[in-house]
Amino acid sequence: MNIYIISIFPDMFESVFGQTIIKRAQDKKRVTIETIDLRNFTHDNHRTTDDYPYGGGAGMVMKPEPIYEAMDYVKSKDNNVHTILLSPGGTVFNQDKAKKLKDKPSLAFICGRYEGFDERIRYLADEEISIGRFVLSGGEIAAMVIVDAVVRLIPGVLGNSESLNEESFENNLIEYPQYTRPRVYRGMEVPEILISGNHQKIKEWRMKKSIEKTLKTEVEDG
Ligand code: SAH
Repeated sequence: MNIYIISIFPDMFESVFGQTIIKRAQDKKRVTIETIDLRNFTHDNHRTTDDYPYGGGAGMVMKPEPIYEAMDYVKSKDNNVHTILLSPGGTVFNQDKAKKLKDKPSLAFICGRYEGFDERIRYLADEEISIGRFVLSGGEIAAMVIVDAVVRLIPGVLGNSESLNEESFENNLIEYPQYTRPRVYRGMEVPEILISGNHQKIKEWRMKKSIEKTLKTEVEDG
């Protein structure tokens, strides 16, 4: 998969993409990530990417020209790119969406700043995605969240493929409780059943706990 990220803060991505699973995915050539500095597509001395809103009102609006030109550059490299606009009002991201995106050959993310985008920028997007109903100060962290969730699903990225089959949201269930050593820590004990060696009983216990956790989460989520 080829990933392109358009942002006025490309340096923000270095640390997150330069370590752990996302780094490994790039080293293994499963993913390429190109962060694109939006200011490279401006033509004035101040490298302006925002301007005052028509009709007045608070804050600044992202100008269409640099974003359109940055997308021209992306499309010159990858004509079929699936383009995502990060937006608090977009479709709320979840595991199903992550699974759908992992099958795309290439993704472009457009990160907003300031008060948001000139409305004409929306025509560039195949979809608008929100990482939740709250307002961040920019799309960069949202793009990182989505890239992380998607890249770990790409075949060959995670070492142990088992960990994908049993994790949360598979079968629409939250993952069962896990324990490791020590057997007793500050008075908290590992459930007896997990030490029993009875694999059938362990499986049943895990399924029961998984359902309990899922129901509790559904109640909390409303
Ligand atoms: N004034 C806008 C918010 C702008 S926040 C409004 O009321 O909708 C600036 C940018 O941060 C947005 O353009 C978007 O790219 C990003 N952003 C903010 N919250 C987000 C969220 N929950 N999910 C995804 N992107 C978000």
